[in-house]
Amino acid sequence: MNYSDSFRDKELVQGLARRIAELTKGVEKPLVFMEVCGTHTMAIYQFGLRSLLPPQVKLISGPGCPVCVTPNSYLDRAIALCRLPDVIITSFGDMLRVPGSSSSLMEERAKGADIRVVYSPLDAVQLAAKNPTKRVVFLGVGFETTAPTIAGSILAAKAQGLTNYFVLASHKTMPQPMAILSADPDLQVDGYICPAHVSAIIGADAYRFLCEEYRVPCVVTGFEPTDVLQGVEMLVRQALAGESKVEIQYSRVVRWEGNAKAQAMLADVFTPFDAPWRGIGVLPGSGLRIADKYAEFDAELAIPVQVEELKEHKGCLCGEILKGKVSPFDCPLFGGKCTPESPVGACMVSSEGTCAAAFKYGR
Ligand code: SF4
Ligand code: SF4
Repeated sequence: MNYSDSFRDKELVQGLARRIAELTKGVEKPLVFMEVCGTHTMAIYQFGLRSLLPPQVKLISGPGCPVCVTPNSYLDRAIALCRLPDVIITSFGDMLRVPGSSSSLMEERAKGADIRVVYSPLDAVQLAAKNPTKRVVFLGVGFETTAPTIAGSILAAKAQGLTNYFVLASHKTMPQPMAILSADPDLQVDGYICPAHVSAIIGADAYRFLCEEYRVPCVVTGFEPTDVLQGVEMLVRQALAGESKVEIQYSRVVRWEGNAKAQAMLADVFTPFDAPWRGIGVLPGSGLRIADKYAEFDAELAIPVQVEELKEHKGCLCGEILKGKVSPFDCPLFGGKCTPESPVGACMVSSEGTCAAAFKYGR
C-alpha cells in the first residue's frame, strides 16, 4: 500500500459520503459548492465524486484552470509574435492547442513558426543564451503556483545579462474572481473548495475577506477523494450552522501565511494589474504583469506587433462554464464538434479544463 492509497480507501470514502448524506437529510434547497482549481475538477470527475453525494449537495466548477481562463487576445498576441522571423516561442504544452481568434500556435508551428515546448522557463532562458541572434519569448500563463518559477527565469536572465529573453505574462491571481462570483445573484455559491497549490503560496488567510464580506464558507482542500469529501463535509457543517470561516482541510501542505519566499519573489518581479479573464471580463487587481524595473523582459512592451481583431468562437459556452453557470453537457458542441482532439474552446484543451475532464470521465 503506498501513501496515496490511504486517501482513496473505499470504506473511508463511503463513510464520508454517508456522513454528508446524514448531515443534509431534509435540506430543501441544495447546497452549491464551487471548486476553483483544475486539479479538483479533474479529481471530482475522475473519482466520480458527484455520484457519491446526495441530491442536497451540488458541486460546480469555476475558473480553475489557467489555460482555460487565458483570453483569445493573449493567444492572438502570441501568434503575432511567432510570425516574426527572429522569434522563438517557448511554452508549456497545453497552450499550443488553444484556439485563438483565427489560428492556434499548433497551426502556426505546422506552417513553420519556431515554437518549442519546454518543461521549465529556465529551459527557455538557456535557449536564449544559446541563440543570441534570436528573441526567445516564454508564454507566462498560470496562477500563483507557476508565477514564481517564471519570476525566477527573469531573475536568471538578468543575472546572465541576456537581452534576448522575454516573457509574455498573463498570470492570474486567485481570490479576486471568487469575490466576483460570490457577488453574482444568479450563482449563489454556498461555499468554496479553495485551491490547494495556490493556497500553499498565498496562504489560507487570503480567503478571509470572502467569508467576512460575502458570508461564504471556504475550505482549502487536497486532491484525493477523501480530501475532497472531507472538505465538502466541512463546508456542509459550516453552511448548515450559518457560519462562514476559512478552514484548512489540506493541512499537510497549506499554512495560514503561505510561502513568504515565493510571495517576496512575486512582489519583486511582478505588479498586480486589472487582468482579463475569459468569460468573466476584466477583474481589478486579478493578474500579475512584469514590474517596471524588469520592463526590458516584457514581450508586450519590448516586441511591438500588430495583433488581429478579436473574435470569439460561435456557440462555445466556455465563458458560462468558467462562471459555473452551465455544465459541459449543456454545450451543444460538446463531444461532437468539440473534442480534446479538435477543441473549439479552451475548456476542452487542458487536461484540467472542465470540458476535457467531463469528456474523459463522463458524468
Ligand atoms: S496549479 Fe494547482 S491549485 Fe492551480 S489550478 Fe492547477 S492544481 Fe489547482
Ligand atoms: S464543449 Fe467545447 S465549445 Fe462547448 S463550452 Fe466546452 S470548450 Fe467550449
